[in-house]
Amino acid sequence: MKPAPFSYHRPTATDEAADLLSSLGDDAKVIAGGQSLLPIMNMRLAEPSDLIDLTAVRALRTAEVQRSSTRYGATVTHMMFEDQLVADATGGLLQHAAAGIGYRAIRTRGTLGGSLAHADSAAEWPTVMTALNARVIARSVRGRREIAVRDLLQGFFTTTLDPDEFIEAVDVDHLSSATWWGMYKTNKKVGEFAESMAVITASRTDNGELIIPEIWLGAARDVPVQLTTTAAAVDGQHPEKLSVDDLRPLVANDIGADPHDQDVAARHHLQLHAVTVLRALRTMRKADGDDRRDHHS
Ligand SMILES: Cc1cc2nc3c(=O)[nH]c(=O)nc-3n(C[C@H](O)[C@H](O)[C@H](O)COP(=O)(O)OP(=O)(O)OC[C@H]3O[C@@H](n4cnc5c(N)ncnc54)[C@H](O)[C@@H]3O)c2cc1C
Repeated sequence: MKPAPFSYHRPTATDEAADLLSSLGDDAKVIAGGQSLLPIMNMRLAEPSDLIDLTAVRALRTAEVQRSSTRYGATVTHMMFEDQLVADATGGLLQHAAAGIGYRAIRTRGTLGGSLAHADSAAEWPTVMTALNARVIARSVRGRREIAVRDLLQGFFTTTLDPDEFIEAVDVDHLSSATWWGMYKTNKKVGEFAESMAVITASRTDNGELIIPEIWLGAARDVPVQLTTTAAAVDGQHPEKLSVDDLRPLVANDIGADPHDQDVAARHHLQLHAVTVLRALRTMRKADGDDRRDHHS
């Protein structure tokens, strides 16, 4: 199918983009990589009157390393993280997450800001940026405001952005080199969205036990879920000594699932989440701070 007719605008500055979004009214939308919006428009599930293409605004496609965080422009692509064309504030997690998104063709066009604004709970950036407690900078003609990603994401395809606001940038705190991160995505085949995704940050003892891990699960509910019961139970444990049977009731408690559900599909999904968390725990890596020092744009 083809999209309904629309007018196309290509601003080259953020002020111009904000002016257009304000003046063109609520039926106008911004477009970045188009990897989610264009399929929806082709199916006529969205019929915007105007598209405001953000990709010619050069300032939105840069990353700036600051003292304790890195600010990523909204149209930094998944590929730019994957190929380390921008600094990785986390010493490897952002690169790892980006490399798992869809196919390479999607990663060359799809953007960080577009993924967060699209707010699909099975997508990488919503869960990763929630786990990292990142903040978006929302821009409109009224100015800028900071919104924690944890507050931005409200449900399936729903955010707290106002109709005249777009994401200008995303601030990610630097992980210290004493931090360990783990991420595991379970999907049916390479190139597909997650059926389950776990993102973990923790520190470790010299003997390999985890200390106060924070665990977030994507693709389980309409927004990422923090697994507080699970994290408390694995605190101080060695991941190799944990089993799926240990984790299943803990994860069930955190996501409000019944481990004895009569529905086979529900039990299958719970099992998938428990396995995903275990694999994320067992493949944790130390944040490597060198990358941040090498990049300054
Ligand atoms: C076959 C296929 C497989 C995929 N697999 C995965 C996957 O495994 N994991 C994954 O995470 N994603 C996956 N994606 C989605 C892909 O990552 C998209 O790039 C991403 O979800 C949206 O980014 P975009 O820049 O393309 O946004 P667009 O499609 O341009 O826009 C998406 C939405 O966000 C809005 N928007 C865009 N930029 C901004 C902004 N700066 N501020 C406010 N609103 C904005 C648009 O108005 C629109 O509503 C897949 C896509 C396809 C087609």
